[in-house]
Amino acid sequence: MDAILSTLEERILKKMLELKNDILEYMDGIKIVDHHEHLKEVLFKESPLEIDLPFFLARGYLRSDLVSAGLPADFYDLSPEHPNFPRIFSYLLESKDQSEETWSKISPYLCRIKNTIYYQYLLIALRDLYGYEHEEIGDDWRELSEKIRAKSRENPQWALSLLDKMGIHRAILDIAGTGLPSEEIVKDERLVQVVRMDGFIMGEMNVVRSLRGEPIRSLDEYLEAMDETFEKAVSMEAVGIKSGLAYQRIIKYEEVPKYKAEKILTAGLNNVSARERKFFQDFMMHEVCKRCAEYELPFQIHTGIQAGNFNTISNSNPTYLTNLIREYPEVKFDIFHGGYPFFREAGLLAKYFPNAYVDGCWLTHISPSAYKEALNEWLEIVPATKIFAWGGDHVIPEHTYASLKLAKELIAEVLALKVVEGRFSKKTAYWVAERIMGKNAEEVYGF
Ligand SMILES: [Zn+2]
Repeated sequence: MDAILSTLEERILKKMLELKNDILEYMDGIKIVDHHEHLKEVLFKESPLEIDLPFFLARGYLRSDLVSAGLPADFYDLSPEHPNFPRIFSYLLESKDQSEETWSKISPYLCRIKNTIYYQYLLIALRDLYGYEHEEIGDDWRELSEKIRAKSRENPQWALSLLDKMGIHRAILDIAGTGLPSEEIVKDERLVQVVRMDGFIMGEMNVVRSLRGEPIRSLDEYLEAMDETFEKAVSMEAVGIKSGLAYQRIIKYEEVPKYKAEKILTAGLNNVSARERKFFQDFMMHEVCKRCAEYELPFQIHTGIQAGNFNTISNSNPTYLTNLIREYPEVKFDIFHGGYPFFREAGLLAKYFPNAYVDGCWLTHISPSAYKEALNEWLEIVPATKIFAWGGDHVIPEHTYASLKLAKELIAEVLALKVVEGRFSKKTAYWVAERIMGKNAEEVYGF
């Protein structure tokens, strides 16, 4: 009996592997859309950023695991001289070599996190792109670091060549902050941008004033400034709006009457209570949704896990968006990161509402097992035309390479299982792959 069973198991496993390889091969021919990237400094037309191995590791998601393993979080404090850049790595901006020093800070913690996916998926890139075959980055780190640094000096060409290698048709970049698409990066038709309106929502007067170019005296003028920004962003070919406010506050946005928002703005946002500030933000979020409808821009919203450490996960449950999704049926809501860990809820939103889409960007390398579970379940409950399977969500292009390779494996495994179980034909599996990897995005974002 055991012998018969094991032969049967072997046959199923063999069938699974064959199917997985067929699906992987099929995916190589698909025009892939990368739903979310922060690739910016590597794409600068002028003097792109140099990257050594310590930075390669610490500038990725891995840093949060290093911190949870005990690395003091102030390790990454920002530099007073270089805005938004960690002090400890400022030598990279000055073309100096202090890799040894940063490596000695990271390496005692690196050996504590070799089990996590944030560590493991980077090995895919190190192996494929730098021929580094080891399971642990050890005493030979220097040579690897020099290879990475040499390649980074070839940017933006190196980053673009990785997009070629990955078969990426479009990458949706989130690099601009509040306002207009960034013009600092190299021109390439694959690179498209979303912009944020979060500065307007949060009442960042310095940001709003600099966009408007003249003083703001009333809520109407404030809204005019946002209208102008929407208009300009669209004329500069922004393909959507992004909100990342789940890092700062709960993503529940109540209906607030205009007179109340006006009163708060007139009093000055710094002179009112936190509760009143939230009223203003809530009001503005609804105004942003109205303009997404007007300009037919999809709205990407961060939900679920926040990058880094010490945040509040309960702020970011995608179900908080229900009223917005219901109230603005013309707006296509792109629900990011599968809402992880609330991926079931995110899937349900895409099931309930024709204008809600569930997006697995970043989720592949947050947890491959959650990703597979989520995709498997979404494919049972959500039209395949409303699932966006992948986005890298990185600053360093090699990380994106690793993420896509992992994503393809996971998607192929999920689809192969559906075929083996007799739920999908192979043809349906191929159709799903094509839809979720590119075609859905092409339709929704109008590429
Ligand atoms: Zn992101």
